[in-house]
Amino acid sequence: MAMPSRETAWQECINPDCRAQFECARALFKCPQCGDLLDIRYDWDRIARPSRLSAFADRWARRDQPLDFSGVWRFRELLDFCPDACKVTLGEGQTLLERNDRLASQLGIKPGRLFLQYEGLNPSGSFKDNGMTAAFSHACMVGARSSACASTGNTSASMSLYAHACGLKCTVFIGSGRIAFGKLSQAMDYGGHTIQIRGDFDDCMRQVQAVCAREGIYLVNSLNPFRLEGQKTIMYRVLEGLGWEVPDWIIVPGGNLGNSSAFGKAFAELRRVGLIDRVPRLAVVNATGANTLTQLFNERGLRWNDGRVDQAVIDAYYDDLTQRGFSPHTCASAIEISRPVNLKKCLRALDICNGVVLAVRDEEILDAKAQIGATGLGCEPASAATIAGLKHLLADGVVGRDERVVCVLTGHPLKDPNVTVEYHRDRKGAFSNPPVEVPNDLEQIIRHL
Ligand SMILES: *Cc1c(COP(=O)(O)O)cnc(C)c1O
Ligand SMILES: [Zn+2]
Repeated sequence: MAMPSRETAWQECINPDCRAQFECARALFKCPQCGDLLDIRYDWDRIARPSRLSAFADRWARRDQPLDFSGVWRFRELLDFCPDACKVTLGEGQTLLERNDRLASQLGIKPGRLFLQYEGLNPSGSFKDNGMTAAFSHACMVGARSSACASTGNTSASMSLYAHACGLKCTVFIGSGRIAFGKLSQAMDYGGHTIQIRGDFDDCMRQVQAVCAREGIYLVNSLNPFRLEGQKTIMYRVLEGLGWEVPDWIIVPGGNLGNSSAFGKAFAELRRVGLIDRVPRLAVVNATGANTLTQLFNERGLRWNDGRVDQAVIDAYYDDLTQRGFSPHTCASAIEISRPVNLKKCLRALDICNGVVLAVRDEEILDAKAQIGATGLGCEPASAATIAGLKHLLADGVVGRDERVVCVLTGHPLKDPNVTVEYHRDRKGAFSNPPVEVPNDLEQIIRHL
């Protein structure tokens, strides 16, 4: 079905040899013609929007209006794919960009140069809410009745919350034993129908796509291009926190690569419409136990290549994983993914932002997490991969000590209490801070202060 010419937003296949277009009123998730990823595209000349970024912040004065209060929909002209009447909001995006000089000094960075973007402050405790508000707005626009996702945890928590907020059924597919406790508890508490599959995230991802295609269920994984539109606003809020100045670096953990993809798109579009005049560099950080992007980008030279990504390199890599029976493993369960669905879009983001990719060990993630907790608001393990990665980038001279760096802390510290307790109680690293046990005696207690 061709797109009617009057639309200001449409879905478009990212494959340059296809470029098929579809109206936003359809729920597709993959190009029906070639199977590649879909993008949301806009006719910017026909979308009335503020001429300065700071005008978006003026909406704070009307924060009694839910769409102006939302840290996503405050920027609605920059993701203008559905009418206001369909928008589903729970007050997401009230997040904080913290200047953290104490952590900066521990890392040897100049004061005023390191910033932490706390996306764990969202309603369900992770950045996923930025995407869910957009996906469920689209789900309501197309009249969906039920939704589903495969999840390492936070997607299921966020989906369950937004699904019941707008009256949709929702089913969560999780790998057995692969989900942090805080996240599983949320999915159940928010009323998600939870199905544990004996397998890992990649197995769940395959099954949920088959289930949604066969049963006509609305899929809210980051394969869903509307989710990524909502996640663009994380970068708008980072710019807002910096007085609308563009930082030198954005550092983000890489799992399914939806966030990194969305960030690249956000900056390319802001530059296209003249709201910024340069883009930051991007660093995507994997865990060494789930390092597909690092392997493909650094070792096998895979690049965006104007959309002509060398699929044979990807296929050969995945065939090898299959033959070895490889299953990803990291304490950072949110990025324990070996077949990232947004790989190609992430390559595009790396191209737009002159990006770099690296992988960090679990011990490095846990130490960084404890440092973030001891100097800032804390985060879950996957989020700490950013600071662990930054240490390498500083040591290698990729990031300069006077450059302005923003690390995106994707999830709340209470998401995964088990990892935190084990690290501290069992003295697993240099920053462990275990409780001391003393007899019930005043003198002895005072001696331990
Ligand atoms: C989902 C998630 C990630 C991974 O993000 P992608 O967009 O899939 O790369 C990282 N950290 C947390 C806390 C998450 O929930
Ligand atoms: Zn296509």
